[in-house]
Amino acid sequence: MNRLYRYLIILLIVIAALGCSPTATDHKQQLYVFGTLVSISAYSADKQAFEQAVDAVDASFQRMHRDWHSWKGEGALVQLNRAIAGGEMHKVDPFLLPLIEQAKLYSEQSLGLFNPAIGHLIALWGFHSDEPPSGEPPSREAISPHLQDAPAMADLLISGNSVSSRNPRVNIDLGAFAKGYALQLAIKQLASHGITNTIVNAGGDLCVAGKHGERPWRIGIRHPQGKGVIASMEAADGECMLTSGNYERYREYQQVRYAHIIDPRSGYPVEHIASATVVARNGALADAAATALSVAGPLQWLEISQNMGLQQVMLVDEKGRIYLTPKMRQRVVFQDKPDEIIMGQP
Ligand code: AMP
Ligand code: MG
Repeated sequence: MNRLYRYLIILLIVIAALGCSPTATDHKQQLYVFGTLVSISAYSADKQAFEQAVDAVDASFQRMHRDWHSWKGEGALVQLNRAIAGGEMHKVDPFLLPLIEQAKLYSEQSLGLFNPAIGHLIALWGFHSDEPPSGEPPSREAISPHLQDAPAMADLLISGNSVSSRNPRVNIDLGAFAKGYALQLAIKQLASHGITNTIVNAGGDLCVAGKHGERPWRIGIRHPQGKGVIASMEAADGECMLTSGNYERYREYQQVRYAHIIDPRSGYPVEHIASATVVARNGALADAAATALSVAGPLQWLEISQNMGLQQVMLVDEKGRIYLTPKMRQRVVFQDKPDEIIMGQP
């Protein structure tokens, strides 16, 4: 009787302890920013910390939207673009400056295939608009001055926090790069609120921290044709995955689709690639690289991957052929067995 009594007391203590220590559960919130839904998922025992962290991330996203937008509003980048077009030396907001510096570096590493200085060309194709462009594409005559003047990030002179351009044709568009930068900043901000097991996902572009309990987070790679995912993989703490694709935004004219990714060498949208996915621990690099590889295509993807120091890359071309680096091959699990896989070591 005495022993039974003791067991009962121990049992009650265990139950009480379980009741007190909060158990981690799933949390999810969605924000609308950069023209897309961003979902923040977390595995945490602290719902209140999660909600506060999401509010803080939301405020940062709004600031990024304002200050990193290249053509809308009166944010820091719009002001910089106006100043450099007028040949001025401009003091750049410290929230924007590191992006300009990094974009310059990645542009150089990508041999100019990622070229955020071609904002005017992107506008000429109609992509500086919230609405999808329509009607006839620009003429060769309209495109050719952009090729002659060849605006490049190397035209920017950065001295301390001041920036000027020796080429008035330079117009900076961070659309190919800012999302990756933003996702990684969001992960950092969530961590500062104690949210260390989380995924920030902007329409399939994402960064990951920690795990989902005992297991790693599982992430999907968007299918370039149709909906859903083409493959999935387990993500490690601190990784980001960015995908660029023809299918995302385009102008359609007489049954021809003109993608929103422009080859700076020709001034025309890329044709040969459907999507390029990069996994890296640096979200900004992965974003810049995914765009550069969309331009590089099957002929140049290995050279550009090597120059940018990428190990984990997957390309899908317009015929559905898959190009993979060995490290990526080890990790991806395809939904349906691909017809053709082409391996390549950067
Ligand atoms: P992403 O989805 O990351 O590939 O970014 C595509 C966006 O980047 C486009 O909507 C343009 O604003 C911009 N862009 C297009 N072509 C290029 C390029 N070759 N280099 C840098 N930015 C580009
Ligand atoms: Mg990109």
